[in-house]
Amino acid sequence: MEEPAAGGALIEAPAAGSALSGAEWLSRYTGSLMGVFGTPQRVLVRGDGCYVWDADGNRYLDLLGGIAVNALGHAHPALTSAVSHQSATLGHVSNFFTSPPQIALAEKLLSLAKAPPGSKVFFTNSGTEALEAAFKLARRNSSRTRSRILALEGAFHGRTMGALALTSKPAYREPFEPLPGGVEHLPFGDIDALIAAVDDTVAAVVLEPVQGEAGVRPLPPGYLSAAREVTNRHGALLILDEVQSGMGRTGEWFAHQADGDKDAVLPDAMTLAKGLGGGFPIGALVTFGDTVSSLITVGQHGTTFGGNPVATAAGLATIDALETGGLLQHAAAVGSYLREGLAQVPGVTAIRGSGLLLGFDVDGGYAPSAVTAALAAGFILNSTGPRTLRLAPPLILAEDQAGSFLSALPAVLETARTAFSETSAQGAPL
Ligand SMILES: *Cc1c(COP(=O)(O)O)cnc(C)c1O
Repeated sequence: MEEPAAGGALIEAPAAGSALSGAEWLSRYTGSLMGVFGTPQRVLVRGDGCYVWDADGNRYLDLLGGIAVNALGHAHPALTSAVSHQSATLGHVSNFFTSPPQIALAEKLLSLAKAPPGSKVFFTNSGTEALEAAFKLARRNSSRTRSRILALEGAFHGRTMGALALTSKPAYREPFEPLPGGVEHLPFGDIDALIAAVDDTVAAVVLEPVQGEAGVRPLPPGYLSAAREVTNRHGALLILDEVQSGMGRTGEWFAHQADGDKDAVLPDAMTLAKGLGGGFPIGALVTFGDTVSSLITVGQHGTTFGGNPVATAAGLATIDALETGGLLQHAAAVGSYLREGLAQVPGVTAIRGSGLLLGFDVDGGYAPSAVTAALAAGFILNSTGPRTLRLAPPLILAEDQAGSFLSALPAVLETARTAFSETSAQGAPL
């Protein structure tokens, strides 16, 4: 290698495909990527079904699915072919034009959402953009006397400024204040607090039917129907954030369609992303009925990439594969199997969620250590807090794959407990 010229800051950048070790890639990562995610756990190079491989050749069972994104697992043939076929046919057009996949996906989402005539879809590229659109919708339902937007403690709605205003976690919000105003956070799951807070000054109530980032916390039974009733009574919009819980993950197309609340709840708007494109970036805001769908008028919102032919073709292919594979029923069944298995594992103190969006608590602050121990044992999951682990695997996860995790889990938790008590004994921060 040549000596760099004096004052030269040239960095030798090997081609992305060359066979470097994970450690070599990570040192380049640290030198070139903004440090918002900390140090990545592994450098992943390939995926197939529910498995991924790292740069050092190790295989992992992916029980996180890119955080509830890879609904069809990795390199699913139907998704791969839809994306490559659409790219080879018509890849991008401006929003002065439309394309058949965009229209077909909008129609399909409205039908899955059981949306009434007059309902509409706005496509985005991510979850947070879907929430930005929802926030603007709420502002369009505002007036001088109606300006409050209610969300819940523990809520996660994204990282852009409007979505961040809806998100409750101080560590995410405070560095970026002032945020768009008018948002208040109510205690989670408290129906009385909700009813007391909603009056004619409320423009919208924004809820996750299942709080994902808060450790998979479903709203208690009756909460959504109470929210529907009180928002109807006061002319506030009910906006459901199904970015994580939607697209079949809980065993229903959308978590708010679960049995208990079936008749009661049709929202005014719903946000989607994560699983919608099976790994291809796409999000959506669905508005229910004529009146709500007309709140944002021509010119008031837009996007360059949102609703592009490739992303919408990916969405259609994902939904088609979920339907033809019976994957909602499958997710519900494998989810129950996982729940039952988790309940037998020593140290697991609580299990929440349904289908393949599950959170479970352990009997100490060692959940982050358990993520590390699981990785060493060949399993990917994540912790949403010191005592809470989350599973959001591909909806194609087979029962024997779930079983391999359940068999490994007691030893993983034991390793984590030991590692955690050793670090705690050394006075490391928890
Ligand atoms: C992930 C998530 C978002 C944000 O989606 P991004 O695609 O990361 O912007 C919003 N709401 C919920 C409920 C989420 O889980």
